[in-house]
Order: sequence, then structure tokens, then C-alpha cells
Amino acid sequence: MNTIRHDFRSDTVTRPTPAMRAAMAAAEVGDDVFGDDPSVNRLEQRMEGLLGKEAAIFVPSGTQSNLLALMSYCGRGDEFIAGQNAHCYKYEAGGAAVLGSIQPQPIEHRADGTMDPRAVEAAIKSGDFHFATTKVIALENTFGGRVLPLAYMEEIAAIAQKHGLGLHLDGARAFNAAVALGIGIADFTAPFDSVSICLSKGLGAPVGSVLVGRADLIETARRNRKMLGGGMRQAGILAAAGLHALEHHVERLAEDHRRAKQLAEGLGKHKALNVTQPDTNILWVNAEAALEERLTAYLTQNGVGISGHYGEQRWVTHLDVTDEDVESAVRLVDRFFAA
Ligand SMILES: *Cc1c(COP(=O)(O)O)cnc(C)c1O
Repeated sequence: MNTIRHDFRSDTVTRPTPAMRAAMAAAEVGDDVFGDDPSVNRLEQRMEGLLGKEAAIFVPSGTQSNLLALMSYCGRGDEFIAGQNAHCYKYEAGGAAVLGSIQPQPIEHRADGTMDPRAVEAAIKSGDFHFATTKVIALENTFGGRVLPLAYMEEIAAIAQKHGLGLHLDGARAFNAAVALGIGIADFTAPFDSVSICLSKGLGAPVGSVLVGRADLIETARRNRKMLGGGMRQAGILAAAGLHALEHHVERLAEDHRRAKQLAEGLGKHKALNVTQPDTNILWVNAEAALEERLTAYLTQNGVGISGHYGEQRWVTHLDVTDEDVESAVRLVDRFFAA
């Protein structure tokens, strides 16, 4: 095993800062299944306030948060519409189908990451008894680090409204999007009935997501969270980390975005690398597959962690990536191509 000294694999690798650990150690706690944990209650209220929604529920992971959302809209034999590469369809082990008996209806993405609104509308099933019953459309933003336009989300919202469907946002990195756009999170999440936010990605908390939305949906989610084993007891220790993150780690996401751009600039000098311009903290680098494999291996040997396969690399900046990490990585790539 090579030691990773510059870790660009994911923004989930962040470790709680000393100040965050102090906040966790000092957290007031109670039994959250009884609704007694003041720190969890504070976190849920803070998220309701920030997003301008009726209710919120603290959960162990983004995966559970998305599943709870889908299970709040859909019963057995109902259907959700999501992108072919949406996390809630592709990267959650089929949980909606396995645990919720909910059928997914995936839609191809266009080159810009959006789904064609006409394709979304065409996939909505009529009441014909041959079909599963479509209940909700799920969007994801940021999507692969890309900020999808507000106008797109509003267009899909109008379709959902026209057909009486719910609208869910997998906003694991919604704060990255809001910071990148220079708008408030509530403006970003306004069209949605429910929004899932990860505290454990760019925000730098060790554990946790919050599902925020309409009171009736969150009430159903609270029952299902218990059923799925997500009811935690003195969870205030974790909620305190989330509260600390909301206080101290939101505006600084702009630094992660700046560093991703610096990385793009540094790596983009090499003609063999096709480097996307990052909107937020995720950078995609494409190269001929054999070259990519060699470069990824070289970086790994030299203490730079990235995710790379099939000619594509993903570099993610976060709380624990410094300017020095970016400079070191760029220098190493320069040295790789100079050799
Ligand atoms: C990470 C992620 C999730 C799931 O969060 P976990 O806490 O890892 O379960 C959901 N959606 C998106 C877009 C994510 O990036």
C-alpha cells in the first residue's frame, strides 16, 4: 500500500477539524429516537430554516436519505424517474427496488448532464393498468461536480407539477452549487418538495445527511428511517459536527472550487490530457486509456490519490486539500510528462 499524502479521491475523505471535534465533544445530547436530542433538533431546524422547508430529518447517509425520500413518495409498484447516471438509480445498490419495491425509470443524460425534459415527460406513465404508477422525478445537482442550470430545474418542476408528481433533489453537494452560483441555498432548492443534503462531503462532517422538505414526506421518512435501522440515539455528537460545518464550512467551498480550477489549469497544459473546466470541486481528466493507467499508477506511487479507470480520472478538492497539495500534484504530472 502506498501512503496517500495528497488525497484527491473524494471529498468524503476529510477528517473532522480540531474545532469540529471540540464542538462534537461539547454537544448536548439525548435520545433522538424519542425526539430528545437537542443537537439533532437544532440541526434539523437549522436546515429547515436555511432551505425554507417545513421539516427535516437527520440520517446516517446520503444513500438512506435518497431512499427515504423515494419511499415517502412511492409505495410498492410505484415508479421514480431519474437520470441513467443518477446516484439514486445507479450507485445505491438498487435500494429503491430492493427495499422499497419501487421501479426506477432511468433517462439518458444529454452531453451537458441534463435530461431532455421531453424525454422525462414522455416517460411519465398514464393511469393504464399495464404500467407502474409514476410518482416522483428525482434530479441531482451538482451532477458529477457540474452545476445544472436553475432554468432546467424549473422546467422539470413545471412538468412534475403539470402531472401531479413529486420532485426530489439529490443535493448531496447542493451547497457547492449555491456557492458556485453565488446564490442562497434556499433559492437553489426552491422548486423541490424534498432535498437531500450530505454533511459528509465537501462540508467536512464525518457522518450524516439531512432530508429536508414537506412535513408529510418527512413524517413518513421518520417511520421508514426506524424501519431501515437509521434511528440513532445520542446522535447529537454527529449533529454537532453538521452544525459546525454549516457555520464554518459553507463559504469556504469557494476555495475548493478555486483549487479545482488551478488543478485544471496545471493539468490542462499537457496536450495528452483532456481536462474539463470544473464548475465546483470535481475535475474530470480524460486521456487515452493506456496513458491514463500509467499516469494514475505513477501518481499513486508518488502519494497522490485519485480515482481513475477506463481513460478517465476524477480529481476532487476538499477541506483537506491545500494549495501545496495542488502544486505537488501538478509538479508530479509535469515530471511524468517530462520523463
Ligand atoms: C455521496 C452521494 C450520495 C450518497 O451519500 P452516502 O453518504 O455516501 O450514502 C448520494 N448522492 C450523491 C450525488 C452523492 O455524491
